Amino acid sequence: MTTPVIGVLALQGDVREHLIALAAADAVARPVRRPEELAEVDALVIPGGESTTMSKLAVLFGMLEPLRERLASGLPVYGTCAGMIMLADKLLDGREDQETLGGIDMIVRRNAFGRQNESFEAKVDFAGIEGGPVEGVFIRAPWVESVGASAEVLATYDGHTVAVRQGNVLATSFHPELTGDVRVHAYFVDMVRAGL
Ligand code: GLN
Repeated sequence: MTTPVIGVLALQGDVREHLIALAAADAVARPVRRPEELAEVDALVIPGGESTTMSKLAVLFGMLEPLRERLASGLPVYGTCAGMIMLADKLLDGREDQETLGGIDMIVRRNAFGRQNESFEAKVDFAGIEGGPVEGVFIRAPWVESVGASAEVLATYDGHTVAVRQGNVLATSFHPELTGDVRVHAYFVDMVRAGL
């Protein structure tokens, strides 16, 4: 079986936790900061962190266009929290100068679940993942207000969409990389493997 090489966008955010989770899910994982590094991976994870900073650094590091190009040419990408925001075709409550990459036909509301002191954990049923609900860690989390016809809702919490997939692109409002349960990462690795 081919082992995919999966990059973690390392401009800002919880990169290390994703590298560990991906390795535990049987991928080769490495940080990606520069266009040359992006060119060498089979797939990419965009971590949690702060999407406004991530967007600024993506511009500064000359990564915005290379990221958009690889997404457009079918690179599998998984975004958690700030990463979900980066993958939104349309963003609500973003900063005025904030850029997203797009990739999923969805409208995402930033900080929708409240600010830092309103962070919480909850069990989330995830379509396509067996073995019971996953533990959702929500930290100043966004939710998905609506999705287009080509995007599939994989999980909801409290009536709000918190996991979406469109083709090769996956996004969750929460942070599976912080739980030690690597089933969502394994789901993504399977997606990547299916396309190799
Ligand atoms: N609220 C943050 C943002 O706008 C996301 C928080 C997170 O990734 N935990 O990017």
